[in-house]
Amino acid sequence: MGREVNDKPAVACERCGKCCQTNLTAYVTDEDIERWKQEGREDILHILKNERAVWAGDRLVSAKDGLPLQSCPFLVWEKGKCSCAIYETRPRVCREYIPGSSLLCPQFGRRELTHVITL
Ligand code: SF4
Ligand code: SF4
Repeated sequence: MGREVNDKPAVACERCGKCCQTNLTAYVTDEDIERWKQEGREDILHILKNERAVWAGDRLVSAKDGLPLQSCPFLVWEKGKCSCAIYETRPRVCREYIPGSSLLCPQFGRRELTHVITL
């Protein structure tokens, strides 16, 4: 089982999973793939190869079966909170994401409020 999605948040991550409701394969870089090869993470590489995403005009679908992709294949849930199954070696895009930094995150407004209060 993985750990929570972000480790040093500017605001607390509620582990709602919204930022992981995407298909990771669209954001993985060559650097990530090379690291996983060096780490021997065939489990991750296998999933990426078989879950490859294709843009179908209005949504991402699986290249394998054409079904819509709803979330990252490494997103796991435990008692209503999300975790990352590959937290220790998650992709750069995930490591660099700051909770509250985008509108999709429920902490977005709270971050602005915190900013106003501390002025
Ligand atoms: S790899 Fe982990 S942190 Fe990144 S989108 Fe998937 S579940 Fe979320
Ligand atoms: S959307 Fe925000 S609160 Fe939800 S898991 Fe991602 S960083 Fe955490």
